[in-house]
Amino acid sequence: MSGIFGCIDTKGKLDEVAKTAYYGIFSLQHRGQESAGIAINDRGAFIVHKGNGLVTDVFDDITLSALEGCAAVGHARGGSPKDSGNDAIQPIHIKSRVGNIALVVDSVIHNENSLRDELKNVGAIFQTNTDSEIILSLFSRNRVRTETCEEAIAKTCEEIKGVYAMTFMTEDKIIGVRDPFGLRPLVLGKKDDMYILSSESCALDALDAEFIRDVDPGEIVSISKDGVKSTYFGGCNGNHKDGKVCVFEYVYVARPDSVIDNMNVFESRVRVGRRLAKEQPCDCDIVIGAPDSGNPAAIGYAEGMGVPYGAGLLKNRYVGRTFIKSTQQQRELAVRMKFSVLKTAVSGKRVCIVDDSLVRGTTTKHIITFLRENGAKEVHLRLASPPVRFPCCYGVNASKGEELPASFMSVDDICKMIGADSLGYISLESLKASLEGISCGVCSACFDGNFIAGLPEENDDSVHEVKYQ
Ligand code: SF4
Ligand code: MG
Repeated sequence: MSGIFGCIDTKGKLDEVAKTAYYGIFSLQHRGQESAGIAINDRGAFIVHKGNGLVTDVFDDITLSALEGCAAVGHARGGSPKDSGNDAIQPIHIKSRVGNIALVVDSVIHNENSLRDELKNVGAIFQTNTDSEIILSLFSRNRVRTETCEEAIAKTCEEIKGVYAMTFMTEDKIIGVRDPFGLRPLVLGKKDDMYILSSESCALDALDAEFIRDVDPGEIVSISKDGVKSTYFGGCNGNHKDGKVCVFEYVYVARPDSVIDNMNVFESRVRVGRRLAKEQPCDCDIVIGAPDSGNPAAIGYAEGMGVPYGAGLLKNRYVGRTFIKSTQQQRELAVRMKFSVLKTAVSGKRVCIVDDSLVRGTTTKHIITFLRENGAKEVHLRLASPPVRFPCCYGVNASKGEELPASFMSVDDICKMIGADSLGYISLESLKASLEGISCGVCSACFDGNFIAGLPEENDDSVHEVKYQ
């Protein structure tokens, strides 16, 4: 999972682009906290600055003021163990026969091993284990044989199997691509002479830019000084409703102030909460949200139940990501550092916590114990998504099958395991119904096992692996 961003000043102005890219990826930080980077096109020369850590760790005033250019792509990446090491941090920049190219992707490529093997057999070299390098290698090979970048991208996309949103930067364009399923979000926006591509619309709002539209499934949007052009590949023709965006974007991933495929994320979460109240009511005195992603659904649930919504659980925003949590005791301590209970709000009360989802359940278990220790008389749990029964092979939720209690335990057993007085999940039907007005379909494979974009290839015997210190 990651956040991708691109911007281009169509009048070739140099002064705003670096700052725009910086604030763009800063607004997408929730999509990935492992590494960050920006590549900028300074009159044809590409400069890349990237590193491990949060956007604010990687960039400071000095690095940012040294970046100047008329176009940029930026990236905030979530962790993937196979892709560690500085070379694997995006943007990836290459100098091909057709010039400089930089790429940012939010992707999972299912045939990566066979593609890499094929490319190596014709002499390609690889510095990393990343998808992006395979995509760039395919693209530069295709670009030599095609008239335009867009044709080379279309050809590349026909060769890769998987899900992605990506933005290429060439010496005179930025080009946004959304896979034929539209599984990953991508939007187009504009501010003055600057066009913007972003994983989510929250970055446009942060930049005071105008939202133009969602990129369609299977669309290639290319932006140069001549404006915006669009082409399609993979049998797509701009029929947005055929798309299948990841339903977890609405459940958990996206920032609540984003609008994805015509659906306001915050409002969809509140609506799910209201339906959850109808489907899974609970005798309680107070409804609290599991911070922070459970809060909108908790608001809807409290409203639906006619019970007060209150802050009972607070999240410490300053907890770093570096906790070593190897023992049970350390994990408990980590939860105590991360969350605090407002004792006066929960003491002596029947508390209902609403959370967006229950994946492994370990944190939830600690939170429930913690609420009881602070005097909660009863603790009920309601979930704004159905049981997560299948591991996602599209890169959103990394848990394996055996780590997903709902894949092998009954609701009652899960309820006992986490120590709640009662447990209720919303049905998939109601979750989907809460997205009424969305301009496309959804992937809901982690709930129903219907993997619309296929499964990873079985060929895991590729010998390619770059080892890092
Ligand atoms: Fe999203 Fe679940 Fe589909 Fe993965 S399987 S893309 S998390 S809906
Ligand atoms: Mg959570």
